[in-house]
Amino acid sequence: MHRRRQLAERLGFDLERALMTVQEHGANVVTFHRRRPEGGQCVFSTDALATDVPGQAIVTYHADCLPLLFTDTTRGVVAGAHAGWRGALAGVATQTVQAMHLAYGTSPDQLAVLIGPGICRRCYPVGRDIADQFVSRYGREGRYLEVAGGEVRLDLPGVVRLQLEDEGVEPDRIRATDWCTREEDRWFSHRGGRAGRFLSVVIAP
Ligand SMILES: [Zn+2]
Repeated sequence: MHRRRQLAERLGFDLERALMTVQEHGANVVTFHRRRPEGGQCVFSTDALATDVPGQAIVTYHADCLPLLFTDTTRGVVAGAHAGWRGALAGVATQTVQAMHLAYGTSPDQLAVLIGPGICRRCYPVGRDIADQFVSRYGREGRYLEVAGGEVRLDLPGVVRLQLEDEGVEPDRIRATDWCTREEDRWFSHRGGRAGRFLSVVIAP
């Protein structure tokens, strides 16, 4: 809590009003509206939250799974999502774009998306069964799978980028940090054995 308060102070958001998730590696999206401002909530069973309430922060937790930050500056809408392989397979990025469109009228070509730090493809071997599920659902495996050293490796940011582009987000408005949480010891990492979670925050303007 001490570190969270420090972060909130540094970024300038109200921790008491922040929306947080209890993530379940799914693709549910919950939206909040300035007509009915709410806050200080922990929303269960969701991996993505969106809001147009001015100044409201959305907080997600990570340790190898990707933070996805969405902004539509035209409408003052932001969203935050958490995407590991299960969430990516379930289409959490896709669902977030669609939910922002339905709830706020956000057009995908007006969205900017940041894919934050997470496990990179060099560090992410997956079982054939998992790889096959991605291929059967999304095809185009050359964009997110590679075989190296006898392993199949999953490029999680690559899958997310593909999904965002499929929804109509402009490729040059999707940025990825390319920071690997497993390789860089400044991050918490499940696979890297650095227990804990780092917080990702996006604040509505
Ligand atoms: Zn890596």
